Amino acid sequence: MTTRPHAFTEPAKKHLGQHFLHERGIISKIVQAVDPKPGDHLVEIGPGQGAITFPLLDRHGELTVIEFDRDLIFPLTEAARAHGTLEVIHRDVLSVDFTALTGGEGQIRLVGNLPYNLSSPILFHALEHAAAIRDMHFMLQKEVVDRMAAGPGSKVYGRLSVMLQAYCHVTPLFNVPPGAFRPPPKVDSAVVRLVPRAPETIGIADPEKYSAVVRDAFGQRRKTLRNALSKLCDAAAIEAAGIRPDARAEQIEVADFLRLANHLAASQ
Ligand code: SAM
Repeated sequence: MTTRPHAFTEPAKKHLGQHFLHERGIISKIVQAVDPKPGDHLVEIGPGQGAITFPLLDRHGELTVIEFDRDLIFPLTEAARAHGTLEVIHRDVLSVDFTALTGGEGQIRLVGNLPYNLSSPILFHALEHAAAIRDMHFMLQKEVVDRMAAGPGSKVYGRLSVMLQAYCHVTPLFNVPPGAFRPPPKVDSAVVRLVPRAPETIGIADPEKYSAVVRDAFGQRRKTLRNALSKLCDAAAIEAAGIRPDARAEQIEVADFLRLANHLAASQ
């Protein structure tokens, strides 16, 4: 068990998704997975009571954190003094410009035991800044990590899988049981590594078109692509992109979605 600094007196806030990690073994596995190197700019989302923050600071000496809960800002700042240099950004992470955090130099590395109610918005926000991010290590609901990493044919392959995998390499690392947190969440958790692909290799001609194709294709996943995509294109366009119009979204690869969206973007 980690010792909690005396100054953290507030109870966990459910509406902020607060489940504080206390299992030392899990915390060290996260730090090992991040494996900070000199010069890395680490940014933690939702440091809470510092479960990951202080071990990262001990190892790396400096860290930027983004925390929304005003009651945590002072105790976190005070307790961090014994560990290293902590820059605290007291903001909603969804309003933070990750690209600006680089200061125009290099890339940031994101880390976080995320508030589960905001995990998808945070992931999509990060994708908008993918070029500024070297990698991300996130604790999420296991069910979300399964969806992120799934491939065609899996029951959980869907919009999240196809959107994320087009922009990032997704590697699930390890599972974490509810007892590792205080209070324990109702679900299992997992840590995942996301590494954004180099911008020139992503190959999406029109990001809005790509999201529209993926959204409509999985909007009614039981329908054939011909029907699900009827607002965006006809069967001939799907065929011209080398895809069977009677296939369903859950059967086709990320590369197929890319080809179809690029074909539609080119024929506009
Ligand atoms: N990192 C700590 C740990 O592992 O024990 C806390 C993790 S807790 C699951 C999620 C943290 O995210 C909380 O500290 C919560 O206050 C913070 N948080 C919730 N919503 C946020 C938001 N919109 N922006 C920034 N932080 C937020």
